[in-house]
Amino acid sequence: MAHVSGNVVMVGGGFAGVGCAKALADKGVEVTLVDRNGYHQFQPLLYQLATAQVGVSDIARPLRGIFARADSVRVVTGEVEKADPAAHSVTTSDGETFAGDALVLAAGARPNFFGTPGAEEHAFPLYSVADANRLRSRLLGLLDAVDRDPSLVDKGALTVVIVGAGATGVETAGAVSEHLRQVAPHFYKGFPADKVDVVVVDRGSVVLNGFSDKAHVFAAGRLRKDGVDIRLGVGVESVGAGHVTLTDGTELSSHVVIWAGGEQASSVIAASGLPTGRGGRVDVARDLTVPGFPGVYVLGDAANIQDADGNVLPQLGSVAQQSGRWAARNILADLEGKPRSDFEYHDKGIMAMIGRNAAVAEMGKGRHEIDGPFAFAAWLGVHASLLEGTRQKLGALLTWGWDYASRKRPQALVDDADAYAIDWDDDHE
Ligand SMILES: Cc1cc2nc3c(=O)[nH]c(=O)nc-3n(C[C@H](O)[C@H](O)[C@H](O)COP(=O)(O)OP(=O)(O)OC[C@H]3O[C@@H](n4cnc5c(N)ncnc54)[C@H](O)[C@@H]3O)c2cc1C
Repeated sequence: MAHVSGNVVMVGGGFAGVGCAKALADKGVEVTLVDRNGYHQFQPLLYQLATAQVGVSDIARPLRGIFARADSVRVVTGEVEKADPAAHSVTTSDGETFAGDALVLAAGARPNFFGTPGAEEHAFPLYSVADANRLRSRLLGLLDAVDRDPSLVDKGALTVVIVGAGATGVETAGAVSEHLRQVAPHFYKGFPADKVDVVVVDRGSVVLNGFSDKAHVFAAGRLRKDGVDIRLGVGVESVGAGHVTLTDGTELSSHVVIWAGGEQASSVIAASGLPTGRGGRVDVARDLTVPGFPGVYVLGDAANIQDADGNVLPQLGSVAQQSGRWAARNILADLEGKPRSDFEYHDKGIMAMIGRNAAVAEMGKGRHEIDGPFAFAAWLGVHASLLEGTRQKLGALLTWGWDYASRKRPQALVDDADAYAIDWDDDHE
């Protein structure tokens, strides 16, 4: 295979960064891949990590392991604080600077709290392994507390509020409801499952916005059957340590408000000084470069990427992965003095898990709809195939099979002592 000479600095080892670095490594291009964690995390399964359905090693894999055989890829674990698009360089929090022929910003997204008072301080977002561990520890902290003192139910100990009824909110609501109502009674004798209150709030008028009408109805029906309280047309006014206030004036006592209510581009984008559009993302050209900044590519969740019809593509793993591979093609073209080409997205469809034996899937660009057990099986198959490496694919399938049969949840472990410990009187607002 002919090698191409050049070096690329990249921020982010998510779907986009890994896809891009792998394709560049195949051609021997030098890549310095900087990621704050040093591992690739599979965000679509974070809610399962939070509800102890899978373990950390099922969904996160060291970047050094992924690139162990790629001699031209150097992995650096570090927090990027500054990016200089003119110099094609980035600087980490320990002051190290890396520069290259091209700069790739694939730093993903972070939650957007839209300035909601108390949300950043008290809510539980789900963007990283650390977020999922924190949420699992809080849920286990609540269950242990109720086991010790059942009267804490009156202080909202079994009330979980999920903000946002999109795919992440729906999947999380289904999983939390199952964990509290059906799994917890296996662990805690005399557990008051009838006191569990899982509430989903959304300012919109449907659940699973972006899916078909049939999917809206199916998902809402299934969640309600599982005891989830869906409140549409209402948002969150503020979040406190032990309560949440909704825009209709309702106040709910709760010590776990899960934020699935919006996202914005990583802080690396703001720190780069690049012009931004919707969601703080960079409006990239069709070839994934940034207009006016030659050799700078912004990918995945950090970018507003258009399809051939001019529609901005959603923030999805498949968009990120494909944009990463396509950017690598264009970087290789730059290095070889050839013309770049416009990104073509292959739409394989969208899907969401709602609960045991229940999912919705809209397959392919034509959105062929399936739901129920077939969609559930398709969801498991697609997500297993997207995981990095054979060990993770097999591991996830084994873990899901075990969980389906036993509901024993061997991953139900506390590893965030701060989130586990709840101050029942700390609700001053
Ligand atoms: C809870 C959840 C569920 C989802 N479910 C689905 C789903 O079912 N299907 C689907 O298609 N999509 C889903 N998505 C969306 C999908 O995960 C994203 O579109 C995809 O991960 C974006 O890939 P990315 O490479 O752009 O960013 P990411 O995967 O977020 O990767 C960004 C990387 O950049 C690193 N990074 C960020 N900032 C810095 C910094 N300052 N310094 C160094 N490193 C940094 C991070 O550590 C991370 O490794 C879900 C997202 C979430 C949050």
